[in-house]
Amino acid sequence: MRLYSTKNTTNFVSLEEAVFKGLPDDNGLFMPEAIPPLPDEFIQNLKDYSFQEIGFEVCKHLLKGVIPETDLQNIIEQSITFPAPLVKLSEEAYILELFHGPSLAFKDFGARFMAQLMSYFNKGNDRELVILVATSGDTGGAVAAGFYKTPGIKVVILYPSGKVSHLQEKQLTTLGENVTAIEVDGTFDDCQALVKQAFLDKNLTNNIRLSSANSINIARLIPQSFYYFEAYKQLPRDGNPVAFCVPSGNFGNLTAGLFAKKMGLPIHQFIAATNSNDVVPAYLYSGTYTPRPSVVTLSNAMDVGNPSNFARILDIYCSTWNNIKGDIKGYSFDDKQTEGCMRDVFSKYSYVLDPHGAVGYLALSKHQAQNKDTKGVVLETAHPSKFLPDVERILGQKIEVPERLAILSEREKSTTKMGIGYESFKDWLLRNY
Ligand SMILES: *Cc1c(COP(=O)(O)O)cnc(C)c1O
Repeated sequence: MRLYSTKNTTNFVSLEEAVFKGLPDDNGLFMPEAIPPLPDEFIQNLKDYSFQEIGFEVCKHLLKGVIPETDLQNIIEQSITFPAPLVKLSEEAYILELFHGPSLAFKDFGARFMAQLMSYFNKGNDRELVILVATSGDTGGAVAAGFYKTPGIKVVILYPSGKVSHLQEKQLTTLGENVTAIEVDGTFDDCQALVKQAFLDKNLTNNIRLSSANSINIARLIPQSFYYFEAYKQLPRDGNPVAFCVPSGNFGNLTAGLFAKKMGLPIHQFIAATNSNDVVPAYLYSGTYTPRPSVVTLSNAMDVGNPSNFARILDIYCSTWNNIKGDIKGYSFDDKQTEGCMRDVFSKYSYVLDPHGAVGYLALSKHQAQNKDTKGVVLETAHPSKFLPDVERILGQKIEVPERLAILSEREKSTTKMGIGYESFKDWLLRNY
């Protein structure tokens, strides 16, 4: 497997280079050179494969010998450590629960796989690798848990003091071991600026091997394609067309679904569900892509005004709007509709959706109103307890908090406090690594 940049399709790099660099020098995004279809027998016989075995087969097919099979097996076993169950709400609507990992969001799949790949490629290198991440909340938790205790790799997470939720902060600051949290007296943008400056500082990068755990890293997309196969395996086969509905922000999850389709999974329709940040649904409708500043909503992990993976979607379809809008339908909903949907689904099915999943359910329902035989799968991207105060207010009752989140509340937070000045951050890095 080699990868090209969406801005230069004739210049290839290895998977190792793409994973450590995150972004090509030309500021495009890395794409696999080819995403060929899997054998038909595999798709027909998905039921004979466990989730891990599906991950292994899909990955082996895509990576084409870059990693020896026994090592690849090991990487998959260490990254796919929790299930992705499909829950039936009705004959036509299913929920794919992607929140059974340590940070209770689908980002756990990508973060764990990226940690394993980096650790694999880092073997035999006696210089330790330091991963720098700036987080506004969610990504940091998944990255911290994903890299926790990974040999040879240290993780430094910068977050804005007082600007992440209580439980998000606990996810970042209570692990210890190879994970260090830096509490910055500033905003998320200040955190990001510190990380950016560090990568540009030759004096620093000559002394410390730095890498990022950026959300656009191709290593995060690859494992996200596995669970589309896992969901399809669990769906009853009745010959009706299958739609996957993806609550979207930066569109990584949906792009991974397009990879699965290219690999031969018979997905008839993708539905891009967004909150009021509707740049992509507007593009699908009009053919014009107009990024704008994001607005704050209840489903805040999707508050994105210029989705970073849009360039990958254009690349897959050679920028042909007609083909894109055939495969992907887009719908957007505001907070009031989201709240109403959470209440409806709870009263009808006794199922608690989180605000992101609710946007997805709304989009699926809207699509199915016109496409009656379509069987739909909504990707539930986070556990509702991650948004506890909102969910309890909307449903008017207490909801259950999974043990792994509940125990965090009692854990002691440990951080290094810092201002927004670069020099003190640099000194700290040089003293510690
Ligand atoms: C990150 C996130 C999303 C958006 O996913 P993209 O791949 O960026 O489209 C949706 N829901 C939740 C809960 C998330 O954390």
